[in-house]
Formats: sequence, structure tokens, C-alpha cells
Amino acid sequence: MLDLNAKIPSGPLEQTWDQHRFSMKLVNPANKRRHNVIVVGAGLAGASAAATMAEMGYRVSCFVYHDTPRRAHSIAAQGGINAAKNYQNDGDSIRRLFYDTIKGGDFRAREANVYRLAQLSVNIIDQCVAQGVPFAREYGGLLANRSFGGAQVSRTFYARGQTGQQLLLGAYSALERQVALKGVQMHTFEEMLDVVVVDGYARGIVTRNLLTGKITSHAADAVVLATGGYSNVFYLSTNAMLSNTTATWRAYKKGAAFANPCYTQIHPTCIPVSGDHQSKLTLMSESLRNDGRVWVPIKRADNRAPSAIPESERDYFLERKYPSFGNLAPRDIASRAAKEACDDGRGVGPGGLGVYLDFADAINRLGKSTIAERYGNLFDMYQRITDENPYGQPMRIYPAVHYTMGGLWVDYNLMSTIPGLHVAGEANFSDHGANRLGASALMQGLADGYFVLPYTIGDYIAGTTLAKVDNTHAEFRAAEESVRTQTKRLLDIKGKRSVDSFHKELGKIIWEYCGMARTKEGLTEALKLIPALKEEFWSNLNVPGSGDTLNQALENAGRVADFIELGELMCRDALEREESCGGHFRVEYQDAGEAQRNDDDFAYVAAWEFAGEGKAPILNKEPLVYENVHLSTRSYK
Ligand SMILES: Cc1cc2nc3c(=O)[nH]c(=O)nc-3n(C[C@H](O)[C@H](O)[C@H](O)COP(=O)(O)OP(=O)(O)OC[C@H]3O[C@@H](n4cnc5c(N)ncnc54)[C@H](O)[C@@H]3O)c2cc1C
Repeated sequence: MLDLNAKIPSGPLEQTWDQHRFSMKLVNPANKRRHNVIVVGAGLAGASAAATMAEMGYRVSCFVYHDTPRRAHSIAAQGGINAAKNYQNDGDSIRRLFYDTIKGGDFRAREANVYRLAQLSVNIIDQCVAQGVPFAREYGGLLANRSFGGAQVSRTFYARGQTGQQLLLGAYSALERQVALKGVQMHTFEEMLDVVVVDGYARGIVTRNLLTGKITSHAADAVVLATGGYSNVFYLSTNAMLSNTTATWRAYKKGAAFANPCYTQIHPTCIPVSGDHQSKLTLMSESLRNDGRVWVPIKRADNRAPSAIPESERDYFLERKYPSFGNLAPRDIASRAAKEACDDGRGVGPGGLGVYLDFADAINRLGKSTIAERYGNLFDMYQRITDENPYGQPMRIYPAVHYTMGGLWVDYNLMSTIPGLHVAGEANFSDHGANRLGASALMQGLADGYFVLPYTIGDYIAGTTLAKVDNTHAEFRAAEESVRTQTKRLLDIKGKRSVDSFHKELGKIIWEYCGMARTKEGLTEALKLIPALKEEFWSNLNVPGSGDTLNQALENAGRVADFIELGELMCRDALEREESCGGHFRVEYQDAGEAQRNDDDFAYVAAWEFAGEGKAPILNKEPLVYENVHLSTRSYK
């Protein structure tokens, strides 16, 4: 069994992080130059961590598989970033953001981590404004805010529908400044394929150059994984096409526990699937629910045009079911409500898999130009994809896979169960429990990168005696060799099926059995189907081309191999958790469609431990202790 000590400092919640910062060991400025840190990933979490640590004096090497850090999936984030600034004077506070986030996560996140996140949220906005991030402003010049799901205050800072892009440009500028100053050595087109562990400590990584196929290894005093989430295990998701689990999965196989893999987020407002040919889904930001009203016809199979359906024959089901939060009910709840309406035969559009998101009232009230100013790029995107004009008719939306709350287990210092291996951003499991509230992923990634890791890595380095190690060490040679063997194995199968066909089949299994609704029977079935798919993958995969040039089929093959194994762990985790909480909805545990938690038996983090190939993984449990909030049934009514 693993030692799951979360290392949460004692003392009052409000002072925990301050006290911890004071008690952590420091590395003196001259000594920082002697230490090197590897950061894998340059999305918001990785770029902010790499830039900040280099600014502090550490020698940083940053690796990405992209051609430039600016391609990270973070650039796609649309709606905004939360912070408890209370600029609106509407009753926000650090405590309220903390409480909303704990409740939003259905009481399955750690109190101390979430409180720190709420505290740091205010620093993030200052940091980004100082970098020149062009947040939207009010007429008088103050930063503007809008509302996001699961909150009754307006605390979301935004830059039109391109918040991720603007924040990433800020972090990227900070990173590039350090690249120019030689504080960061940037390695692009390098895919990390293994973590190297020496005497129990993470001491480096193995990468494969995607253009030349060259496999190399790199040593460091500490390693950070900021490699994003694994929604693409579902094949169809709103994530960037390249987002994958390989970095976190290979770390899991080297001893890092994987926490709550079954916690995935289905976002209620995405453009519905249009056919079997599709390889990507598109998000329509949650911010649209500030002004858009969600409805379906009251009558089943009503295929009149929306404009022909009178008010009295419409069901604004979120406003009806959740009057306090209305259209801003959290994502898991809004998604389930949409599915329920469609399952009841009241869905709209092709196949009845859609609900309306209607801006007519807002346009009448505020005028088209105000709506265009707020959401213009999202409306344009919708029109380009669907050929329907959302200014003139409601958008059609349906839930889609969007974010993964599960990830590598980390303690309060963001260190995994492998000493020296730290994990930041969506790649870790830390702050969102069983459901993430909108606009809180950017907040977490930047809190981790700008404000947490730079301190906790210093503490780790100052408090650990690290032997001198370089990449000639036997462990580095062995890890490189194992990556070479796996690459050759994939190329040598020479079967008949493409990587994509396996990925698609896996996605269908996971969506069907481990998607919006899960049952014991379905998960048991998935746990038969996935091993069979894995067997076929390794005997009938066809990867054309060779390993020493750019070969996207080969890249994908490695990623899909890992997705298959992760998919199995997700189903195992979902089967074991006999309760419903947040995005994990077990049909057997519900109260008239609302999730029914079981705090007596399941108030814990499930941290899975790799036990060896072909062996069942071991479940470790970190109990969740609530001393500052009262565990209650989550209600948005
Ligand atoms: C469409 C969309 C809209 C969103 N909008 C919002 C929003 O408005 N507000 C909000 O808070 N959240 C939003 N989110 C969620 C948020 O965008 C992500 O959770 C967040 O950006 C993740 O950042 P990250 O730095 O952890 O990872 P990423 O941005 O995914 O970056 C991962 C990095 O790791 C690198 N990498 C990965 N694996 C490897 C490997 N094996 N080797 C080398 N490099 C590797 C990649 O090159 C990349 O640089 C949205 C998500 C989507 C899909």
C-alpha cells in the first residue's frame, strides 16, 4: 500500500498556506542556479511554473510535443477565470469562493487545497493584469466580471470568449523572456514517454523527438508534469486533438498513484454530434448561460421551428427545476437535466439529441450589439460549424466530455507519490472533487504554476539530499531502452486496423458505460470489452511508416495504448464507487434524478496504485476530513 500523507499543515484554514510558506525551507538565491528542474508541458500550468521558477533562479528545461508552447490546449479556454476580488460588491469573499468550489465538487475535494486556491485567485488577476492580459473592463475602467455556474456572485474575469488565449499569451511572454535570458531551455516536438526514477526519486524523463524519432533522456533534481487532462479517452471531446494521458499514465506505471480516474466532466453546452465522421466536439462556453435561456418543447417529438413554439409550450427546465441558480446551475446538474429531457423524447434537432440555448430575450433587452460584444466570436464559431444564425434562432446544444477532475494524486505540495515528481494543472486531481465549476481550471493551473510549485519545489530541493545523477545512469539507459522496445513493438504488429479505429471503439465503450450515467451492469460489461479491445490492439494494429521520421500514426498508437489501459481503470474506479457524486452518476444511487452521495462509505479520494502488468491495481484511500464546511446534500434549488 502507498503512504498517502497529504501533508496538510495544521492550524486554522485561513492561515495554513501562510504558515506553510513560512515553515518551508528556502534555497538561497546563489544555490538556485545549481539546481535544474524539468517541466513537461507549457499550457497555463507548465508555462507559469517554468517561467516563475526560472525567474527565481532555477535552471529550467521545458518540454512540449507541440511546435511552440502557444499551441497548448489552454489556448482554447473561452469563458473566463474566477477570482474572489469582489469587484461587483455582491457579497463575494475568499470563503465564499472556497465554499462554492467545495460544494460544486460535491464534497469530494480537500478543504486545505481549495481554500488556498481561493486565496491565490486574487493574486492571479494582479499577476495577469501586470503582464498586460487584456481582461474586459467596465465603462469606468475597472475589470469586468460575469457569472458562471454554481455561483450566485459575479466573479469571473474574462477576455471576450478567448480568455485562455490571452492568459496563455501572458504566461508565454513570461516564458519567452526566460528563454531569451537562458533561464529556460525550451524543447519543442519532444514527447515525454517515461519518468526516470533513481533510488525512489524522480530524476528525469525520456523523450522521443517527433520529427526525427530520436529517443533521449534528461536528468534533473525535480520533475513537474503539467501535461493536461485525458478527456480524449472518450475519442470525442472538446479537448484539443492532441491532448492525451501518456505522460501521466507512464508516471502511474512508475509508481505515481492515479486519483479518482472516473471523475470526468460532461459540459452541458456543446454543439451536438452531427455524424459518425466527426473527430472533435466544440464547446459553446458556459458564459453563454449568463444571457442564454435553456429550453425544450413541452410536447414530445415536437418538430416545429423554435419560433413557432409559443412561450406557453416551452419548458425552461433549468429555471423550473433550479429556481435559485436557473440557467447557471453547475455543469453536472445542467448536463443531466438536458439528457433527461432528451431521454424523455423532448430533445430537438437531428436525432432529438439537443436542447435550445436561446438569446432572444437577451437580444430584445440588451440589443444585438451588446450580445455580439460579449460573445461575438462564439456566435461566429457556432454559425460556421452549424450554418445556423444564433442571433436569429436559438443555438442547439448537447452535453459533451470536456474536463477530467481525476489525475495523478498529489499532496498539499503538489508532489505525487514518487518523491520529486510534481504535478500541476489539469494533470493532477487536486482541487475540484467530483465536479469542477466553470472558470476554475484556469484559476487552478495558474495558482499551481505561479504561486504554489515555485515554493514547494524549493522546499523539496532544500530538504532532500539528492545524489549527483546524469543520464548515463543505468536507470536512464533502462528507461530509454524500454521506450525503444515499445516503439518497435507498435511498428512490428503490422495488423489490419488503424489506430483511429481502436480509439473510436474505445471512446464508444467509455461513453456508453462510463459516461453521463453509469450502472453496475454496464461497467462490468465495459471491463470485459476493454481487455478484449486491448488484446486486439496489440495483435491487429497497423502503424504504417517508420520510427525515425514524423509519424503521427505511431505517436497516436502509443497514446491510444495508454488510453485503453486508463479506460479500464476509469471503469474499475466507477464500479467501486457505489454512490453518485458530481459528474459520477451511478443510476442505482439517485433521488429522483439528483445524485445521492454516501458520505459514510465514500468520503475519500480513490488513489490507484499500479501493481504490475496483468495484475489488478491496488486501491488506496485518502479519507476526506471536513472541519470547516458542513457535509450537506448539494442543492441548487
Ligand atoms: C474548449 C474548452 C474551453 C475551456 N474554457 C475554460 C474556461 O473558460 N475557464 C476555465 O477555467 N477552464 C476552461 N477550460 C479548461 C482549461 O482550458 C484546461 O483545464 C486548462 O487549460 C489545462 O491547462 P494545463 O496547463 O493543465 O494543460 P494544457 O493546456 O492541456 O497543456 C498541456 C501541455 O503539456 C504538453 N504535453 C502533454 N503531454 C506531453 C508529453 N507526453 N510530452 C511532452 N509534452 C506534453 C503539451 O504540449 C502542452 O504544452 C476549457 C477547456 C476546453 C476544452
